[in-house]
Amino acid sequence: MGTPQYIHLTTNKYLFILSGKLVIITRISSCTAVIMSPLLLILCGILTVVRSLHDWSYSGPYGPTEWHIDHADCGGDRQSPIDIDTGLITYSPKLTEINIDSYSQTEGVELSLVNVAGHTAEVEYKGKDILISGGGLPADYALKQFHFHWGKVDSRGSEHAIDGHHYPMEMHIVHKRKGGGNFLAVIGYFFDIGSNNMAFDVLVNQLHNIKNSGANVTIPTFKLTDLLPNTKLNNYFRYEGSLTTPPCSEVVIWTLSSDHITISEDQLNKFRALRDADGKELVDDYRPLQKLNSRKVMTSRRTKDQSGTSLAAKTSINAQWMLTFVACIIIAYRSCDQ
Ligand SMILES: [Zn+2]
Repeated sequence: MGTPQYIHLTTNKYLFILSGKLVIITRISSCTAVIMSPLLLILCGILTVVRSLHDWSYSGPYGPTEWHIDHADCGGDRQSPIDIDTGLITYSPKLTEINIDSYSQTEGVELSLVNVAGHTAEVEYKGKDILISGGGLPADYALKQFHFHWGKVDSRGSEHAIDGHHYPMEMHIVHKRKGGGNFLAVIGYFFDIGSNNMAFDVLVNQLHNIKNSGANVTIPTFKLTDLLPNTKLNNYFRYEGSLTTPPCSEVVIWTLSSDHITISEDQLNKFRALRDADGKELVDDYRPLQKLNSRKVMTSRRTKDQSGTSLAAKTSINAQWMLTFVACIIIAYRSCDQ
């Protein structure tokens, strides 16, 4: 029996053509809920295989709008990514510098570069713990992997946006909380296109080794700090959200750096040369923006309106000093006349 022909009707209904007859069935994730003819049970088995091969994707019938069918958390109200509206962010004095000194550690660390199911390029860590702390994080967190989301063109690719603006790529550094529980801290960096970033060549020049979905290669260990725009991480946004891929678990403390990474168009094109599970170009691997709902986005940087002395107040104070100075000159001048 060949692969059945079907048409996607609604979010969970499909029109099948079976032996010349049209059959509408509801989308299913397992066979247990179906009591049908043996033929449909065979069909169900085929569909299950198809589902396991595709699972989820960034477009088509298994795209982001359908993720919640198999992964209920994807329909939650604390999802990621989000747009950061800088007019609505709140300064928090708890958001001190995050200690990322251990990113420079290379002893006892092994790195693998992986094309993860045609969804992303990921560097995975094994060996000695690389821990980050501070910056309002409730515990120490161990680095597990970092990966990327990028666009087919430079006007899109990042998952998060700042005031509605997307960047051509976004890097996510994923850490797991020490001491139990599946709680994560993810640090995100946006990319700008500019001159060649030599530090990124250690990674970019290995990408051809993981062109196809599932490929992986051991790569020489390097300092993660070399990839970052700043050895200090003290200028960032913070909110609580989710994984941006299924199962979309709402277990992530998000930190988005205000300092960006620059790479060249040529370097980004090497990411775009990777292939997805269908052998097509791996691009636009980002989830659409999710609603903020009742959440608040915090910032580590004091804005002018939250600094205690606003720009307007400072201008007023400067004007008062100027008036006082002029008054003193006039008084002194008149004193000289007398
Ligand atoms: Zn990610």
